[in-house]
Amino acid sequence: MQRFENAREAALALRPDDPVYCFRPEVLKQDCRAFMSMFPGKTAYAVKTNGEPMVLKALAEAGVTGFDVASPAEIAEVRAVAPDAEMLYMHPVKAQSHIRLAMEDYGIRVIVVDHEDEITKVTRVVRALDIDPGTVTVFVRLQTKGSAAYELSKKYGAGPAAAVELIDRLARAGFKVGICFHVGSQIEDPDTYERALASAAWVRSRVKAEIAALDVGGGFPAEYGHDPNRRQPVMPSLEEIMTRLRTDIDEWGFSGTPLVAEPGRVIVARAYSLIVRVLLRKGRRLYINDGIWASLSDSWTGKITLPARFIPDPAIRHRNGDQKNIVPFKVCGATCDSVDILSRPFWLPETVDTGDWIEIGHIGAYSLSLRTRFNGFYPDTFVEVTTPFDEGGMPEGFASLETMAD
Ligand SMILES: *Cc1c(COP(=O)(O)O)cnc(C)c1O
Repeated sequence: MQRFENAREAALALRPDDPVYCFRPEVLKQDCRAFMSMFPGKTAYAVKTNGEPMVLKALAEAGVTGFDVASPAEIAEVRAVAPDAEMLYMHPVKAQSHIRLAMEDYGIRVIVVDHEDEITKVTRVVRALDIDPGTVTVFVRLQTKGSAAYELSKKYGAGPAAAVELIDRLARAGFKVGICFHVGSQIEDPDTYERALASAAWVRSRVKAEIAALDVGGGFPAEYGHDPNRRQPVMPSLEEIMTRLRTDIDEWGFSGTPLVAEPGRVIVARAYSLIVRVLLRKGRRLYINDGIWASLSDSWTGKITLPARFIPDPAIRHRNGDQKNIVPFKVCGATCDSVDILSRPFWLPETVDTGDWIEIGHIGAYSLSLRTRFNGFYPDTFVEVTTPFDEGGMPEGFASLETMAD
């Protein structure tokens, strides 16, 4: 992979017409270690957030020993890069053949269920392979309620009463049993974890089995930009959320229980930025070479304002407007459909023009893992960059970054 000090250097050297992902392994390791130092349990990285081998490898180097996987492909990716890592198979609804593959070929012994039919599948596989159920930890996933950019409680999780039944049934069959939840992604309210913990405590007080572990899932928010035209949401920092979570874990009586977290976004968001090119400026609209069917679908679905930095093309000698005047541009993606328009603007100097580049920051989570080949566009160029996105460069480019919006 080619290495550059920052994205501007990469853009000017390569003059790319296709999107370029700028990977920052040191930022990734730093954010990963920061999370691990704050969370009082095992950190199992959620592979779906970004399963690139370069990411998994850097995380293993940073000391991650657990990975939350959801499919045979994710399992194989982790094994290829981190052969000694433990894998937690945390998809609540699985094919029986996939459970068998996970347990037989990969030795996976941690798995999740939220329905009795899933218990049946796991039990069949365990019997067929003659595995002692006492060596297997089965987590029962609880339904949760809360506010997050992505709410997942509608899809997965057992209600508290159903969870009690599932747990006792698993314990009777000889499994070790845990409780888990996943509150959704990019939580917007720190009470979210407490409500889930309260529900977990209720379940624990009604089961006969001993609870072997508690898994608080992911959902920890990453830092994004801020649209100056909207009221700034008061988002607590990761430190504040973690302090609160540790207190809540104590108060709900789980401090003696082995803990697991499955962070994704908060660990990998800052590890990548993306260089895109302005293919056309039409008034206050920018047509760029990426979009919601490639790297930008998460920001579209989650209505996230992405921090953008202007990288002017030095070949453009004449510009209109004032470089210091930062204005919102509507951003149209690369594919030939009218859905492909970002839900939030980019804030950039009014001088931006056809042929310029834009560096989009904090794009490591749910970006390249969600790329499609729609219309034949599939960004797949990577460079390594040493300077964090938030450092260096011209301040006007930070117009949409939260810390500069005050
Ligand atoms: C997606 C997912 C995660 C990661 O969520 P983030 O919001 O990226 O931290 C963790 N656990 C489960 C079960 C998931 O589905």
